[in-house]
Amino acid sequence: MRTQVGIIGGGPSGLLLSQLLHLRGIETVLLEKHSRDYVLGRIRAGVLEHGFAELMREAQVAERMEREGQVHEGFFIAHDGVRDRVDLHALTGGKSVIVYGQTELTRDLYEARDRLGGRVIHNAEDVTPHDIATQRPYLTYRLGRQAARIDCDFVVGCDGFHGVSRQSIPPEHLQVFERTYPFGWLGVLSRTPPVSPELIYATHERGFALCSLRSSTLSRYYIQVPLSDTVEAWSDEEFFQELRCRLPEDVARAMIIGPSIEKSIAPLRSFVAEPMSFGRLFLAGDAAHIVPPTGARGLNTAASDIYYLYHALLDHYLNGDDRGLEGYSQRALARVWKGQRFSWWMTMLLHRFPDNTPYEQRLQRTELAYLLSSQQALASLAENYVGLPFA
Ligand SMILES: Cc1cc2nc3c(=O)[nH]c(=O)nc-3n(C[C@H](O)[C@H](O)[C@H](O)COP(=O)(O)OP(=O)(O)OC[C@H]3O[C@@H](n4cnc5c(N)ncnc54)[C@H](O)[C@@H]3O)c2cc1C
Repeated sequence: MRTQVGIIGGGPSGLLLSQLLHLRGIETVLLEKHSRDYVLGRIRAGVLEHGFAELMREAQVAERMEREGQVHEGFFIAHDGVRDRVDLHALTGGKSVIVYGQTELTRDLYEARDRLGGRVIHNAEDVTPHDIATQRPYLTYRLGRQAARIDCDFVVGCDGFHGVSRQSIPPEHLQVFERTYPFGWLGVLSRTPPVSPELIYATHERGFALCSLRSSTLSRYYIQVPLSDTVEAWSDEEFFQELRCRLPEDVARAMIIGPSIEKSIAPLRSFVAEPMSFGRLFLAGDAAHIVPPTGARGLNTAASDIYYLYHALLDHYLNGDDRGLEGYSQRALARVWKGQRFSWWMTMLLHRFPDNTPYEQRLQRTELAYLLSSQQALASLAENYVGLPFA
């Protein structure tokens, strides 16, 4: 088989890129390791910034997001038994974010790919990029016992943190920057009305907590837990008891709880691999970088990669101009690092660090007090939260 752009990974990055390119007449084949049901069963991001929503519109997949997504003009920071509202709308001159689940937008993208007859191959095993340093790269994979090959002009690695694309770049050409955190987030999804129409980020001496949502009937709650904890060790009852403990009393009292329909632990990690391209292989999204979920940057940073790569590929195919592809890594990384800085900063601000000295604890409290007392500091938080411009 032959195509113009071979894409590895059928998460939001890969699907969005293939849909955008297809609409402009550029052929793609997308190889996904898992089944569609498996991909759609993963509960992840929920907060989309303006730039992401714009790309969904350009990809002609925004109809349900516009109808069912909730526009949020602010969120709360809970501390010391009270809540302070961060008014995103006022602080950014009218900007906001959209709450719409990653599962839903992935479903929308799959359906759009089906409608256009996009070539998406699920359950592709042993996907391997070859000859990426040459002008004629190709991909091999297996479907059951049948081996197959796709020749392409370019390979795009959208296969997440554990994917094969980044690993196919010779290690001497890759520099990795990484920070791990001594805790994870235990998340519970429950079919209950959310306790608050806007997200509540809570910092408490027992640890961080987040009250998030996916819709008016679906709540997503998180608590900071040690990395040694397991999902099995937490009953629903214990989870909600601990969550309530970390929230202001009025919030805890108002919370309606119900059985979890999904429960998982996500370790927190900051990671960047540079450069984001090698020869004719380009990395995008979690394949090249991940952030702790505090600040909701992961999927949104993936979207800016897709924006730069999509335009670079358009320039190549429609105008014969390769400057976008040559500068892709540098351009994408400039924004990636701003997302890294913001996610790291919010994580450091709101979590309990077991090894912090009393001095560091005081500094952390002072950082929060300063933030909440300064319009300039709040404006900086809001500017980053709604998303820095792509350009
Ligand atoms: C608990 C949690 C909460 C989050 N909340 C937010 C949030 O509110 N806002 C936000 O912006 N981000 C958030 N994120 C981050 C966000 O989910 C990711 O950044 C996003 O999924 C990245 O999309 P992607 O397509 O690049 O990678 P992925 O979604 O990881 O998709 C990669 C795809 O590649 C496939 N794949 C892997 N290896 C191979 C292979 N060898 N061959 C073929 N296919 C392969 C995988 O099966 C997968 O389908 C959150 C993450 C977590 C874990």
